[in-house]
Amino acid sequence: MALKIGLDIDGVIADSFPVFREELNKYYGKDIIKIDDCDISKVYNVDWADLDSFFDQNVEYLFSAPKVMDGALETINHWLKAGHEIIIVTARKKGLEEKITMEWLHKNNVPYNEVVFAGGASKTFAVKEHLIDVFVDDFISNALEIAALNIAVLLLDAPYNQGKLPEGVVRCYSWEDIKNQIEKRFSS
Ligand SMILES: [Mg+2]
Repeated sequence: MALKIGLDIDGVIADSFPVFREELNKYYGKDIIKIDDCDISKVYNVDWADLDSFFDQNVEYLFSAPKVMDGALETINHWLKAGHEIIIVTARKKGLEEKITMEWLHKNNVPYNEVVFAGGASKTFAVKEHLIDVFVDDFISNALEIAALNIAVLLLDAPYNQGKLPEGVVRCYSWEDIKNQIEKRFSS
């Protein structure tokens, strides 16, 4: 069965949070060792207006410096070879963020069929429009919204997404795990 697999970028394809944390620590003069809340403003005890300006000022570096997550390239290439489609759906914005993101994908040889820049909007629109069968994200809020559409969701484990998961959302601990889960759920 050919699947449409939806993938998030930050915290899923890209190991973004270590880069964000390092730059945020410099910017705020802090020594945070773990981002354990998906609301970064709480972790740094600052407001979002200030964080937005930090991201705007540093977007070029923040979105080009992260490494690809271990195992992501191998798995995505494996899926494409198996005939699945890869739809990347990110909360990053169109325009400058889109440009930096596309360069990052190419530079890192990340293959895909399509990339959707949802910006601040919910990812559910893109998930429905592209008839995605299974989505991989790292934010519980996204996982909940997508699972509510009766679409399988895999949540890549991170310090900021701990806690009990609702039905339909499966926690994965690595890209190998993600690959195995999809094989297990959809093989027939
Ligand atoms: Mg993410």
